[in-house]
Amino acid sequence: MESIQAVRGMNDILPGQIEWWQKVERLAREVLENFGYREIRTPVVEKLELFSRGIGESTDIVEKEMYAFADRKGERLALRPEATASVVRAYIQHNLQADPITQKFFCLGPMFRHERPQKGRYRQFHQIDAEAFGSDDPMLDAEIMYMLRILLERLGLTGVVLHINSLGCPECRKTYRNVLREYLLKQADAFCPDCLRRRDLNPLRVFDCKVERCQSLLEAAPMLLDSICSDCAAHFDKVKIYLDGLQTSHVINPRMVRGLDYYTRTAFEVVTDQLGAQNAVGGGGRYNGLVRDLGGPDLPGIGFAVGMERLILLLQQGQEAQRRMPKVFLAALGDSARHKGFFLTQELRTLGIETEMDYEGRSLKSQMRRADRLNVGHVLIMGEDELAAGRIQLRDMNSKEQFLVPVEKAIEMLKESYLKTIRQDFFP
Ligand code: ATP
Ligand code: MG
Repeated sequence: MESIQAVRGMNDILPGQIEWWQKVERLAREVLENFGYREIRTPVVEKLELFSRGIGESTDIVEKEMYAFADRKGERLALRPEATASVVRAYIQHNLQADPITQKFFCLGPMFRHERPQKGRYRQFHQIDAEAFGSDDPMLDAEIMYMLRILLERLGLTGVVLHINSLGCPECRKTYRNVLREYLLKQADAFCPDCLRRRDLNPLRVFDCKVERCQSLLEAAPMLLDSICSDCAAHFDKVKIYLDGLQTSHVINPRMVRGLDYYTRTAFEVVTDQLGAQNAVGGGGRYNGLVRDLGGPDLPGIGFAVGMERLILLLQQGQEAQRRMPKVFLAALGDSARHKGFFLTQELRTLGIETEMDYEGRSLKSQMRRADRLNVGHVLIMGEDELAAGRIQLRDMNSKEQFLVPVEKAIEMLKESYLKTIRQDFFP
């Protein structure tokens, strides 16, 4: 019968890969909690309107990439394409604004976008998402970018660059929008059909166009950063000063507008030159109107999202896939020895010592070969003779020494080896 394949662009994460995910998730939790962010988990499915209102109708995400559907009752729903809108919804719905006003949350999990699958771009992908509500202080902008930097450093990632920009407030954007539209009108035919549509609908979006020709036409375009109001400019100056104080190097990139409409003032992106076209590892920014626009109090917010697949691709470059290995292998020969060995294996596992055994009744030689492949520290060898004497062979696979000892003694020795030391993590 023909086998059923996974949905295109949606990946299984298998043993050998999962260790990277676990490492990234563990470090992310550690770093984010250290900076005062608390974990929140929201549903993968939300009402469609949350994203069309939150992210913006004319963004690529909402227009082209969202998995939107009607459920059996005809309710318009969507698989979440990003987490910010969901976290804001939960923040409002559960009245999470508290004392102090500044509240920080993070969220790890899958997101869904119908894009063309390629390296670093999938239809189900995962993000580490951080959101802070309640303060417009530029300290918070600098802090969240610093936290992102520390996270990437803790992961051992090098060669990434932080780009920052200010997208101003709705007020400074209003005037700029017209200036930009006029510029775009002057070279109307040259832009792609998408950009021509964007020009009328939401001209800032043209900067997000992936078409090279459009990008080169924008080189002479007026920049939003040059026309932001004095309040926004002062805010941006302070962000830069704090970043400098935190020795967090950054590049000012006036073309970076981000793919979501809700950003105001600070926008940032961490980019790499090691992933081809998929050069953004993560990005974020301020969204001072979003909580209000989604029906909540008029409180500012700032956040970022990092793509976990891209992170892991970078981490893995040049490194072998690794998998977690057991510490002990139990090799048994003969029915009654296998019987006894089965119970001993469970006893060791229950004690907290990772132990593996043979379930297929293979020869001792092939069991020993498997133990070798698994790279275990010790092998317990049990044959009918040993069993009759209540003893077992304990072989140290590093020193190749082997002792015939009472079963109880072998257990004691293994406890000594594996339970005295604090369990070393697989990844150093
Ligand atoms: P890109 O420009 O590459 O499409 P984006 O601006 O759409 O990225 P964001 O919405 O800012 O991405 O999401 C934050 C991060 O999530 C990205 O920097 C990236 O690492 C990751 N990401 C976004 N879309 C995908 C995807 N389809 N597959 C894998 N990772 C993704
Ligand atoms: Mg995208």
